Amino acid sequence: MNKVLGDVRLYKFDVPSESDVGIIVVSCEGGHESRKFQLSQYTGRGRQRRGSKAGLSKKFVDMINWSFMMMRDDIAIKIHKQIFDHIVSNFCFTNLDNVPPACPVLVFHFQTRGFGQDHVPEIDITRTLLHTLRTRHSILADEDAITRCVPIAPPATKILDCYQSSELCFLCEKGYTRDVEIVHKTRCNHIFHGTCISSYLMRTPHCPVCSAHLPPVDMRTLLFS
Ligand SMILES: [Zn+2]
Ligand SMILES: [Zn+2]
Repeated sequence: MNKVLGDVRLYKFDVPSESDVGIIVVSCEGGHESRKFQLSQYTGRGRQRRGSKAGLSKKFVDMINWSFMMMRDDIAIKIHKQIFDHIVSNFCFTNLDNVPPACPVLVFHFQTRGFGQDHVPEIDITRTLLHTLRTRHSILADEDAITRCVPIAPPATKILDCYQSSELCFLCEKGYTRDVEIVHKTRCNHIFHGTCISSYLMRTPHCPVCSAHLPPVDMRTLLFS
């Protein structure tokens, strides 16, 4: 069965002794893949700036590519691209060059699902987070960690589970039939193929249909407010 992304869930993980770290968790059947990154290293500053999109450095892009290529199957490669499209069209990592020594850890949690599966269950990723952080000096107990994992505001676009319609995508004028294609709904309730709206929003932060302002969410705002 084809696997596609379910919607992203975003959390702030408030760990007292950790800092300056983001985590991407991808939950597939049978487990979670997680990758850690230093926020301040990936903000498109300095020499790494070349090749950046939406304030993300080439180094960050390469990290996502590398991590998920390691999963060595076609599905993982498609999914890494969907994750990347979603992150670059929704989030802005600029001005994170001065991250305070103790700041919340940012967590992107992507779940995969089979096409036709219209409900993606809530999964507890606390253990995965703790495991990922433990390589540094996390001393939190699981119970303590659960209360520190706080959901944060959804981004400008949402991945729609299992969307099917006879309407055409405004951007490419094709239908929604390809079963490996994910579909995004914007905050202003307009629907597009994920790849179409992602590449559009990278150039213009407005909805192509109604012109609603859909700027990438600034990571600083998410982490520190
Ligand atoms: Zn399209
Ligand atoms: Zn709109």
